[in-house]
Amino acid sequence: MQELWGRKVLKKEIENIEAAEEQSQKLLTMQEVNEKTIQCLRCGQVQSKSIVQLFNGHFFCPECIQLGRVDTSQDFYHLPEPNPVKRIVNFAWKGQLTDGQQAVSNDLVASVKKGESRMIWAVTGAGKTEMLFKTIHHSLESGYRVAIASPRVDVCLELYPRIQAVFPDEPAILLHGKMEERYRYTKLLVCTTHQLLRFFQAFDVLIIDEVDAFPFVDNPLLQYGVNQAIKTNSSLVYLTATPTKELTKKTTQNQLKTSILPARYHRRILPVPKMKWCSRWHEKIKKGNSPKTLVTKIRTLVNKNDVLIFCPSISLMEKLKEAVEKKFPEVPLACVHSQDPERLEKVLKMRNKEYRILMTSTILERGVTFDGVSVIVLGANHDVFATSALVQIAGRVDRRKEFTAGEVWFLHDGCTKAMKEAIKQIKKMNTLGIERGLIDEM
Ligand SMILES: [Zn+2]
Repeated sequence: MQELWGRKVLKKEIENIEAAEEQSQKLLTMQEVNEKTIQCLRCGQVQSKSIVQLFNGHFFCPECIQLGRVDTSQDFYHLPEPNPVKRIVNFAWKGQLTDGQQAVSNDLVASVKKGESRMIWAVTGAGKTEMLFKTIHHSLESGYRVAIASPRVDVCLELYPRIQAVFPDEPAILLHGKMEERYRYTKLLVCTTHQLLRFFQAFDVLIIDEVDAFPFVDNPLLQYGVNQAIKTNSSLVYLTATPTKELTKKTTQNQLKTSILPARYHRRILPVPKMKWCSRWHEKIKKGNSPKTLVTKIRTLVNKNDVLIFCPSISLMEKLKEAVEKKFPEVPLACVHSQDPERLEKVLKMRNKEYRILMTSTILERGVTFDGVSVIVLGANHDVFATSALVQIAGRVDRRKEFTAGEVWFLHDGCTKAMKEAIKQIKKMNTLGIERGLIDEM
């Protein structure tokens, strides 16, 4: 019955139901809050009874229905997570951390030893994953159960093989909405934050990567899931390059310990975005023209590097592509967005230098690395470009060891608070990196 350890699942999710009926604990699926409302105990959301009543008189939860319907006619099956037992775990990582990474790694191990939570604020391209290895190793050897969760499935897919390579003898599992592999008990997991809703007091250490990314950010359902999934005495680790206001506030109020890594592993400063006025960009593109400032900028940048152009909307982007193609008939280019079925192929082609220009929606704002690129944010003053998006976008440039003098440009017709804030944040990190001796003079 190991499959129920630290889990909270419905009958239909269980393979051996006879054994489960006999051995497991039953937990309530929903609980009345008052006469009018009822709370789902998987996702924590409170519903108005009149809206969620079924024909048979029971109530259900519409919020987490994609994980299988929870209703008051059912129970959750659960078994408590066993107590940790110390053991030896093979650790195959032979890499070397930079001084900055090492300091963060030490902080994190110390936090886990004390059972406290910590935020790691590391700039884009800092090499976050490597800083976790020591902590994961220590945790597994302590007999702890460890999960690394991310709101983004592509992050999970990339992370899982890397983790497996570091702990080659450790059984591990990858959990996300589209997986085919059946759930089995492991001490080491990589999963999407949605999958945490199926756990109950399971983890001694829970690491959440990209904690500021959609759909986790501002999502009470997923945050309830996190709180349910961890043990009472446990360490919650937040990883981010662009912390939310809420997390920053907790840090300044000393409610959450924080380690900052202000420099990349290659010891160069983060490229600071430059602003350039681009009047009436929206109108011009709508009419099928490419703004002159943009054309001039592309011309200079494309001499040295490939160019990523971030656009605020898909319809504008498609119009812009045609206009730019006319100006640069010799330059291979494409555009990509979240609904594009060829999204992965196009990203690969850009990586392989088959395109020189790639226009994109905010879909490529994080999680991707290209060699030798410059970035233009067209209409940087548009609402979709929040501070965190702009910092992440700027962070696409100069990630590789080899220096290619990539640049970041915000083209706009009205500077926003988000633009100023993004530049301020990047400069602040650079100053901190220099102060700490983590950046070399160029
Ligand atoms: Zn629910």
